[in-house]
Amino acid sequence: MMRRIFSLSARNMVFFSLVGILVLTAFIKVPCPVCDGTGSVSTSVNMDRVFFSNMDTRLMFLNPDFCIGYTLYEYEVNVTLTNDASEDATGWISLQLKAYSTGKVLDTAYMGVAIPGKSTAINSFTVWFKTAYDSTTDVFIEPAVNQAAVECLTCSGSGETPLNVWLVAKGMKAKLAQITKVERTFEPPPVIFFPPGE
Ligand SMILES: [Zn+2]
Repeated sequence: MMRRIFSLSARNMVFFSLVGILVLTAFIKVPCPVCDGTGSVSTSVNMDRVFFSNMDTRLMFLNPDFCIGYTLYEYEVNVTLTNDASEDATGWISLQLKAYSTGKVLDTAYMGVAIPGKSTAINSFTVWFKTAYDSTTDVFIEPAVNQAAVECLTCSGSGETPLNVWLVAKGMKAKLAQITKVERTFEPPPVIFFPPGE
């Protein structure tokens, strides 16, 4: 009789321990393995192996319009990009219109680019910038590779997952990152109208 009670309680202990572990792992939060805790996944392909070899810009149109309250700039931009990787690269670059005197960012444009593997390609764009009416015309354009980050599907952008999700997601990192890229497309931030907030 004693033996039976003992074996029953031992089994119960194992059962409740397992339930306890499962419940606990649902509450313990750990950094998301898919986005490494950042909350976002890059949709670019091999853009980390791309760098700017050259850029030339030509101002085509400049219109400080008092009536509409902002200044419009039209630029022709040619960027020469070199892809160091053997695979093709696709992604986005950002072009920031900056004031010479202060370095302040006045506006940003995003452009999609494609560069074949182990090659250098010129990408040409017509780019429009919009700044406040009274902002300086003493400006320049600064390019940067943009990783086109989208919200991570696995952690919904929070950067952390319950431990039980982590155990499953860890082994499927590449697959889950790929699903995020298919499900979510990068959309550049909308153009800001000036003056902001009015
Ligand atoms: Zn994540």
